Amino acid sequence: MTSWDSAGHDPGGAGSVESWLVTAGRDRRFGAPLNVPPWPASNFILGDRRTYSRNDATPGWEALEEIVGGLEGGASVAFASGMAAIAAIFDQLPAGSLVVLPDDGYQGVGGLAQAGESHGRWTVRRLAVTDTAGWVEACGVADLIWLESVSNPLLAVPDLDTICAAARKRGAILGVDNTFATPLNQRPLALGADVAVQSVTKFIGGHSDLLGGVVTAREPRLVAALRQARGLAGATPGTLETFLAVRGARTLALRLDRAQRNALALAERLAHHPRVALTRYPGLPSHPTHEAARRLLEGFGTIISFDVCGDASAADAVCDGLRLIQHATSLGAVESTIERRARVPGQEHLPPSLLRLSVGIEALEDLWADLDRALRDAAARG
Ligand SMILES: *Cc1c(COP(=O)(O)O)cnc(C)c1O
Repeated sequence: MTSWDSAGHDPGGAGSVESWLVTAGRDRRFGAPLNVPPWPASNFILGDRRTYSRNDATPGWEALEEIVGGLEGGASVAFASGMAAIAAIFDQLPAGSLVVLPDDGYQGVGGLAQAGESHGRWTVRRLAVTDTAGWVEACGVADLIWLESVSNPLLAVPDLDTICAAARKRGAILGVDNTFATPLNQRPLALGADVAVQSVTKFIGGHSDLLGGVVTAREPRLVAALRQARGLAGATPGTLETFLAVRGARTLALRLDRAQRNALALAERLAHHPRVALTRYPGLPSHPTHEAARRLLEGFGTIISFDVCGDASAADAVCDGLRLIQHATSLGAVESTIERRARVPGQEHLPPSLLRLSVGIEALEDLWADLDRALRDAAARG
């Protein structure tokens, strides 16, 4: 059982994160449906507090916000996607801001930052994830300090405790994209971040069937500003999507636990495979940020990035040869997915034979048999 300080978000008597995931967000009034049903509604009879659902959250979103808010330890605002959530944070920046991003990170955020820079809205500086002294210095001058709890796709874990403790410029926002760790493996707000982001599309949804995002913050003015940004931009979550996301969240702890065990075992085996040149997984002692991962993460996650021996075509051949593991982008779902990341626009700088594997909840030995066979077959064909 994950140790969990519910930080005051515990109306349901949930003493642990596993129980919270199952019980949070429900309507406990007599006769209410046990599960929060989807609310397909744009407008409401006037007089109640809801008028129009671009501005006034529906109960479905509120359930998702309650669940994630309790996990992250703050107040949550749900959005149409992870990127919509992140864009709302960037929207808070005054003109001429300085944005500091990690050198390894989600390409969508890189694209958003670049587009804003080209429109003269802010300037962007990049820092190595592990340059802790650089991040501490950046806190004193930047308006937005952006980090990922575990970087995508090199899986570097920043020294978030040290960075969050550094003095920040007045009004600055320190944001952490917590998608890879999930709030079960790290709670950035408790470490001192201002906002934590989940792409609900990934682990919280968990079934590759929706797009969604959530931002969580503690400062009420920031929460209100993010809600306002959502309404103004119309970046509202879909009714069906939030229904599915809440359903997915109920099993998050089970899925993460299972997939994480699979991932550690696969990483250890891949590290010794003759057709694998390099295996990156924060749980391996060989990983450059293994110490930070042990200190700052409850679990090492479900993503493994490994370089196949040979060039891009050797790695493509592995993807083509897999049968159980799906050749698809995205991550955090029940099914294992794999992709060669250097083929993704904005990620061309990565090692050409790097495969990012999102480990699912299938049987470990089936996953290993699939990987081992595809690696050997690709080598025999090459
Ligand atoms: C997928 C992802 C996003 C973007 O989320 P969407 O829901 O696809 O908009 C942001 N950050 C990380 C780390 C992601 O994996």
